[in-house]
Amino acid sequence: MKIERIELFPVVLPLKAVLTLPRGASRTLAEGKQNILVKMTGDDGTVGWGEAGPSRRWSSETTYSTYTTIKEYLIPVLIGRDPFDIAGLHQVMNTEIAPSLDAGQPIAKAAIDMAAHDLICKHLGITLQSWLGAKALDRIELSYLVSAPNPEKIAEVVQKGLDEGFKAFKVKVGHNPEIDVENMKAVMEVAQGHTVWPDANQGYDLDQALRMAKAFEAMGIELFEQPIPMTDVYGMKKLLNSTSMNIAIDEAAMGLPYLVELIRREAVEGVVVKVQKVGGIHYARQMCDLVRNAGMKLIGSGLMDAPIGFAAAVHVFAAYGIDYPTDLNGPQHLSDDYLAEPYPMDGQSAMVPEGPGLGITIDEDKVAALKLDLSL
Ligand SMILES: [Mg+2]
Repeated sequence: MKIERIELFPVVLPLKAVLTLPRGASRTLAEGKQNILVKMTGDDGTVGWGEAGPSRRWSSETTYSTYTTIKEYLIPVLIGRDPFDIAGLHQVMNTEIAPSLDAGQPIAKAAIDMAAHDLICKHLGITLQSWLGAKALDRIELSYLVSAPNPEKIAEVVQKGLDEGFKAFKVKVGHNPEIDVENMKAVMEVAQGHTVWPDANQGYDLDQALRMAKAFEAMGIELFEQPIPMTDVYGMKKLLNSTSMNIAIDEAAMGLPYLVELIRREAVEGVVVKVQKVGGIHYARQMCDLVRNAGMKLIGSGLMDAPIGFAAAVHVFAAYGIDYPTDLNGPQHLSDDYLAEPYPMDGQSAMVPEGPGLGITIDEDKVAALKLDLSL
């Protein structure tokens, strides 16, 4: 089988709400969620879909960078190649765009990786989870993402999540230590008995993080996501030795070589995996295997994924049996998508779709209606 054609469809999905990171809103309501859809067609006519959904205040890729990288550098070296040779596809992509501490524009490469996986699984008539060779779970429980400026507002947001049936809450912190402590107290009060954890997105320095870890631990919190900058290996090690909480890394776990180095330095004990940030399913499964074999806590997450990226993540996380609530918050934030039929849910758990490949059907008329104009 050969890759005959790869087409790109930039889309913009309307947002219900914005999400605030330490650097500011991850995207504005006016920007919407801008994604580059990849349609890969094999020489037998089978079609696979992938998607790049960068978050410019979270990592260094943008809508334009993913689009031009895929169009100008990746597609030309992929046409005519065997999509079953996923490792080979990554090898030629890495020859064109060099890997760094991450896979080298991993979100752009992830879109190709997802489309190739969807294509080969559809060709074989099997689900992506079957291709991964593990069926630990048939669903993934979603957490509710909480991002609000003060205790009163944050209590309202958490109550809204509870009313919608969520049983786990991830809270964006890393802005202002004093306000963050008051906000977390408010969350813990409203969400009593439920899973709650803070994510600082690298927003604290080491001194602040040490103080925050003490405060969060005293509230009964068990997990603290990416408190300090991803490059502060000394800080990560000192922090995890200072608390009984699991200090999980997210931005620091973009690529396998750096994660291996952190394991060697005993500076990590929990890892957040995202299919897009690591460069696709090929690397996500390697990272999951590494984390599991090293006996560390494995946590699934995403980048406000639209349904293609969302489905890929659910297949991978369910294959690996990730039962800690997962921050795949696309459904919470996106008010429209390009699916022919709604994504299968059971309450606030995302089911592993049963159809071949990613198991979702793209409505190309909807894709056309959501078109994003990227002309400069
Ligand atoms: Mg995170």
